[in-house]
Amino acid sequence: MNVASLDISSIRNQFPILHQQVNGHPLIYLDNAATTQKPLSVIEALDNYYKFHNANIHRGAHALADRSTGFYEDTRKAVQSFINAKEAAECIFTKGVTESINLVAQTYGKAFLKPGDEVLISYMEHHSNIVPWQMVCEETGAKLKVIPIHANGELDMNAFHQLLSAQTKIVACVWASNALGTINPVKEIIEAAHQYKAVVLLDGAQAGSHLPINVQTLDVDFLTLSSHKLYGPTGVGVLYGKRELLDKMPPYQGGGEMIKDVSFEKTTYNDIPFKFEAGTPNIGDVIAFKDALDFVNDLGKEAIMQWETQLLQHFVMGLKELGSNRIKLFGTAPHKVAVQSFLIEGKHPFDTGLLLDAKGIAVRTGHHCTQPLMKFFGIEGTVRASFAIYNTIEEIDSLLATLQKMINR
Ligand code: PMP
Repeated sequence: MNVASLDISSIRNQFPILHQQVNGHPLIYLDNAATTQKPLSVIEALDNYYKFHNANIHRGAHALADRSTGFYEDTRKAVQSFINAKEAAECIFTKGVTESINLVAQTYGKAFLKPGDEVLISYMEHHSNIVPWQMVCEETGAKLKVIPIHANGELDMNAFHQLLSAQTKIVACVWASNALGTINPVKEIIEAAHQYKAVVLLDGAQAGSHLPINVQTLDVDFLTLSSHKLYGPTGVGVLYGKRELLDKMPPYQGGGEMIKDVSFEKTTYNDIPFKFEAGTPNIGDVIAFKDALDFVNDLGKEAIMQWETQLLQHFVMGLKELGSNRIKLFGTAPHKVAVQSFLIEGKHPFDTGLLLDAKGIAVRTGHHCTQPLMKFFGIEGTVRASFAIYNTIEEIDSLLATLQKMINR
């Protein structure tokens, strides 16, 4: 599908939550980088699962268990095709990006990092791609190094290339920044890291719903996704890893499902993906996640990206017209997903957020779980508007008009 054939109003009709009043105004939901809303197909899949299919998976010898297992594994196959993994077994279900990154840090990191090794992250990482690495560096004696950024929110790629060395063992980098929108040159990062035999983990939280993903052409070692940022349910994430890496990693958690054989003397572990899926997983939400992937596939990432880019450009142009002396933009890189951070001169971001909420407009305010990045800009936080496929130009005009009134006050 291309952008011209998108019917935004019929897309909006698939999202019941959008059709409500908040504080006496029609809801304008512009907090999509935090979580997207869910289409009816996802909501109904969840409802149907508990009405007709609910059973524990992989171990039951009855019809409901078989059916639930089939649906659960169908989602794994859908994820495989969504990211073009070689095998479905390379796609592990987790709670979300945070758990996926912790899993890699606590298994691969703990097993293979030694004192003197280096883990490279960037200045624009979400806390969930900082803290797990700090923890494992502390435990193993490895060193955390940080790729600097330019003032427009782009990575300093010269500095990145200089930071790489034979000591670099892991590069963990965000694909698209949740605070700035910057799309990082991940292919270049992966190729350069591989020359030093470092493995690369991409935080795909913000890339999932916007950018085409092909883990094989990228040759990425680990990729993380969160369903809830991809029109799917909360509590579900994906860790993609190359088989040769996943096979040699120790398990993350012990328990049911992740074992082949248990005795008090010795336990042998199951094959991937089950080795990393201890206990009863979030079955219903995983099953409904497939409908979210179908929703994105039916529209097509290209059309989604084109529409969201139009929304972003319209918003940025409008902000610029409000006056650069009154509005400061954060994140002006040429390649961006539809996220724009800004501040109104002399106004605390939280106050701007409250005033917008009073008009039914939902934006994010604060540090966006990127405190080191905020420190780089010398600020505590920003106001962030982030767009999804169901947003409209009219909604952005309402936001701009409300901001204009605030400035004039
Ligand atoms: N990384 C980025 C870039 C994010 O935007 C987020 C969510 N805000 C996360 C990681 C964490 O994702 P989750 O909360 O779904 O685990």
